[in-house]
Amino acid sequence: MKNMITIYYSKDFYLHAPPRGGYHPENPSRLDIVLTALRENGFEKNIIEVREAEPKVAVRELLSKIHDNSYVEYILRLCEQGFEGYLDGDTYVCKNTCRAALKAVELTAIATEHALEKPSELFFVLPRPPGHHAGASGSAMGAPTLGFCIFNNIAAGAAYARLKGFKPILIIDVDVHHGNGTQEIFWSNPNVIHIDLHEWGIYPGTGSVDDIGGKGAEGTKVNIPLLPGAGDEDYIYIFLKLVEPLIYAIKPRLIAVSAGFDAYAGDGLAYMRLTEKFYEFFGKTLYDISKALGVGVVAVLEGGYSIGLRNGLPAVLKGFSKPEYTRPSLESVKPSENVKNVVDKVVRMLRPYVAI
Ligand SMILES: [Zn+2]
Repeated sequence: MKNMITIYYSKDFYLHAPPRGGYHPENPSRLDIVLTALRENGFEKNIIEVREAEPKVAVRELLSKIHDNSYVEYILRLCEQGFEGYLDGDTYVCKNTCRAALKAVELTAIATEHALEKPSELFFVLPRPPGHHAGASGSAMGAPTLGFCIFNNIAAGAAYARLKGFKPILIIDVDVHHGNGTQEIFWSNPNVIHIDLHEWGIYPGTGSVDDIGGKGAEGTKVNIPLLPGAGDEDYIYIFLKLVEPLIYAIKPRLIAVSAGFDAYAGDGLAYMRLTEKFYEFFGKTLYDISKALGVGVVAVLEGGYSIGLRNGLPAVLKGFSKPEYTRPSLESVKPSENVKNVVDKVVRMLRPYVAI
């Protein structure tokens, strides 16, 4: 039997669209790319278009756990005023943005609820706008912009799980950009572990190995910055050597994934060289860990703009749902020297705080 996957989306996610019909890489056609790819890869029956969301979620209360009220009110006011334009050099708002962004938070919370109830199942949300660059009060950790994000969906999922009393919560971010918003929001929170693999030298410019969490939360923020050009074997090595042992040491009660696909080779916004090989491995790894720990997985779409969405996202689902898939061994993969050095440095930074 195939392992269980449920994919949630809402028609409201199409409503967040670039002002005046202009071009922007983060646009509603991304959702079409994803839905088409899912159908073509045999996942149509796993997709649920949510109209009446259950259970009911107090979205504003949830947002108050992760964002300053003044920021939330600022965004809501823009929508009420019918604002159509750019908040910064990257990030647009249109009059329906809030409807989409609030629904994104709501569906993430609902998917989280289901993941908390169902060990070793995957609940995957396809929200727009994305969220991981949105910090407590807007752009995070000194980043120049909000990076296409409005409200931080994955942070809302983690906050929802905390409200329900679960800890620790694990967030894994494999989007090619650093999840600076997520990291800022949970910087001093020891109950939310954040592991982030990202390309170094591009937006948002944060995510150094040395950043391991604020006072009282040291060792709960794990940054794995990588040089441009890192590929499947580099990422697989990082997971087998570092991420997986770390997760088993942490024993999270929920696995939350910031699932970006812009590290896929040729996706367009960065210079990593991942293919289906890594994403299928990643899906299987999520399944194996969730099964071993008896916890559920919630995943939220972040970036990914073309081929990454088409090939990377279905590959994660295939890896998760295919019991016969065999993962490569640590001995069989050949990472670059740089990647080995980064892993060694991260381990040295974490050793005083985590048993790895
Ligand atoms: Zn990204």
